[in-house]
Amino acid sequence: MTHRFAELTTAQAAALLAGPRTPVLLLPVGAIEPHGPHAPLETDPIISAGMCARAAERLAGSPDVRVLILPPLPYGVTEFGVGFAGAVGIGADTLHALVVEICSTLASQGFRNVVIVNNHFEPGQVATLRRAVDTLAARGVRTGYLDLVRRSVASRLTEEFRSGSCHAGRYETSLVLADRPDLVDTTAMSALPALSVDMPAAMAAGHASFTALGMDRAYCGAPAEATAEEGHATFATLTALLLDVIHDQVS
Ligand SMILES: [Zn+2]
Repeated sequence: MTHRFAELTTAQAAALLAGPRTPVLLLPVGAIEPHGPHAPLETDPIISAGMCARAAERLAGSPDVRVLILPPLPYGVTEFGVGFAGAVGIGADTLHALVVEICSTLASQGFRNVVIVNNHFEPGQVATLRRAVDTLAARGVRTGYLDLVRRSVASRLTEEFRSGSCHAGRYETSLVLADRPDLVDTTAMSALPALSVDMPAAMAAGHASFTALGMDRAYCGAPAEATAEEGHATFATLTALLLDVIHDQVS
């Protein structure tokens, strides 16, 4: 049984709507942007995909919901990566339009339960996703959104994540090591000194790029401390948080 929505035939998609289980569609979003000299540009989409796959697997036997993963939106608002090769951003209005139109189209067919799963926390990205949820609500489409930067949610994640010094550091690199170790340059990773940058405070002060934040190699935190074990543990927590949002969405 597939967990990927786009692998269904149209007949199977129609059958979902008529079936006894409420369909819940997960929309993984992220960004293509520099993650230090050691981690892949698609670090954020990898994390979103990993959470979605685990949540779908956990609920595979549920009698109440049928969780399917939509094709991801890997591009996001990535102005902080300016000056680094491989940073591929889209505008806030483009992201807003994509999310609103995808969710509206699905809702018009009866797929009214979409949950947005984001792991790119640049302020422009987070603000745009919140705005998209508001726009959809004004159109009568209640969309789930796991907002990982909300304090009550972040408090369940690792110390580095809570510190805000966490771009391509121990937190994110561990997650990539858990699912795609082949994409981490562990030699480069092991040589990186820890770098403490209070990203939320610096961003609030108006700094708007990694270089302006003093992140000359597009990372902060402690990537050399990353382990696959921590990544698997963090994925378990992220999956539990996502399951809560799925439950709220259909209850
Ligand atoms: Zn990231």
